[in-house]
Amino acid sequence: MNDILPGEIETWQFLEVEARRIFGTYGFSEIRVPLVEKTELFCRSIGETTDIVEKEMYTFNDKSDNSLTLRPEGTAPVIRSFIQNKLHTKDPVAKLYYMGPMFRYERPQKGRYRQFHQIGAEVIGIEDPKIDAQVLTMLAHYFDAVGIKDVELQLNSLGCPECRPAYREALIGFLEARLNALCDDCRRRYRTNPLRVLDCKVPGCKEATIEAPSVLDHLCVGCDEHFNKVQGYLRNVGTPFTINARMVRGLDYYTKTTFEMVTNSLGSQNAVAAGGRYDGLIKDLGGPPLPGIGFAMGVERLVLMKGQGCVEPNRPDLFLAALGDEAACYAFGLMSSLQRRGLHAEMEYEGKSLKAQLRRADKLQARRVLIIGGDELARREAQLRTMESSSQETISLNGIEEFLLAGLTPAP
Ligand code: ATP
Ligand code: MG
Repeated sequence: MNDILPGEIETWQFLEVEARRIFGTYGFSEIRVPLVEKTELFCRSIGETTDIVEKEMYTFNDKSDNSLTLRPEGTAPVIRSFIQNKLHTKDPVAKLYYMGPMFRYERPQKGRYRQFHQIGAEVIGIEDPKIDAQVLTMLAHYFDAVGIKDVELQLNSLGCPECRPAYREALIGFLEARLNALCDDCRRRYRTNPLRVLDCKVPGCKEATIEAPSVLDHLCVGCDEHFNKVQGYLRNVGTPFTINARMVRGLDYYTKTTFEMVTNSLGSQNAVAAGGRYDGLIKDLGGPPLPGIGFAMGVERLVLMKGQGCVEPNRPDLFLAALGDEAACYAFGLMSSLQRRGLHAEMEYEGKSLKAQLRRADKLQARRVLIIGGDELARREAQLRTMESSSQETISLNGIEEFLLAGLTPAP
C-alpha cells in the first residue's frame, strides 16, 4: 500500500480531472460508494471460484460479527447502490463513474499493489450495442486525451447464458484431455470455472491451451449479431481495436462484450483498463432485470505509463522577499491580499537573509520575485525580478496588486 506524495500527486490529479471532464461530456455522473461492503456481495457477483474471492479479499468480522470486505473492485458496490437506492425509478438509464482505492491481497510488484486505485464507469439500462461502442470510444478518447499511447484495445465476447454452457462443455472436454499439463489451481477448478484456465498466467497452462476451442465459434445468433454490431459501430467512429478470443476476464459476471486496454510497456502487468457487459448481474443481486456494461482503469498503471512528474508542480506566481521587519510586515500583508485574489504567492516566513530568501524562491521555482527593501518601502518602490527573462525592474508599490494580477489566468 503506497503513499502518494507531493510531486507524484500532480499526475494523479491530472488523470482524475481529465476523467471527470471527458466522462462528463458523455453524460456520466460521479457516484461515491463506501470502501466496505458485506462480503456476500462480492462472493455473489465476482464469483466464488475467482482469484479475487478465493484468495485476494481483505475480509474481517466487525463487532456485531458481520462479515465485511474492503472492496476489491467497484462494479458490485455501484450495482448494490443502484438497486438499494432504486435509481432505475428515477431514470431508466444510469451512466455512473467512480474513482478511489480498491484492496486485493496480491503479491506486490511493479503495477500490482494491495491498495490500488481505479477510475471506472458503468452504464445501466441499455442493451443496444451502440452503448458498448460508446463506452469503448470514451475509454479510447480518455487515453488519447491524457496522452497515453502504446495501448491496444482488445475485444472479445463471452456469450450469454444461452450459448456459454455449450462452450464451457467444449472447453472442459478439451481441458480434460490435458489435465497433466495444468497447474494445481486450474486442475482444481477447470470443471467449476473452465474459462479461468484461459486466463491463467502459469506458462504451462498457457501452452496447454493454445489450441483451445474459441468462444467466438460458439456464440448464439443473438450474441454473434451483438458482437458484430459493436465492431461495426467502432469502425464507424474510427475507434481502433483487435479481437482477442482468449480474453476471459477474472470476474464471473461478464456476458457478451468484454475488453481490455493492454500495453507492452508494463511487463506482465499488461492490462491498464478492463471491463465488459454484465447483463445478468443486476437481477442476480436482487435488482430489476437490467443490462449493464462498464470498465475500470488501474490508476497506478496509468501513472507508470504517463510517467511521474510529467505534470508541472504548483509553482508560485510570486515570491516576496523582504529586508527588515517593516518590509516583511508589508510583504506579508501584500502576500495575503494577493492570495485572496487568486495569485499563488509565497514568502520566507522566518526573516532570513536576502540570499536565503532568494534560494527559497529558486527552490519553489517562483515565476517572479518581488524584492522589498526598507528604504525602497519608504519610497513606495520595489524590485520585480522575472525568472524566465532574468530581468529586473523598479516598480511602484502604488497599484502593485493590480499590476501583479494583470494577465493572471484564473486557476482551473
Ligand atoms: P490483472 O490481470 O492485471 O490481475 P485484473 O483482471 O485482476 O488484472 P480487473 O479486476 O479487471 O483486473 O481491474 C481493472 C484494472 O485494475 C486492471 O486492468 C489493472 O489496471 C488494475 N488493477 C487490478 N488489480 C490491480 C492491483 N493489484 N494493483 C494495481 N492495479 C490493479
Ligand atoms: Mg488480478
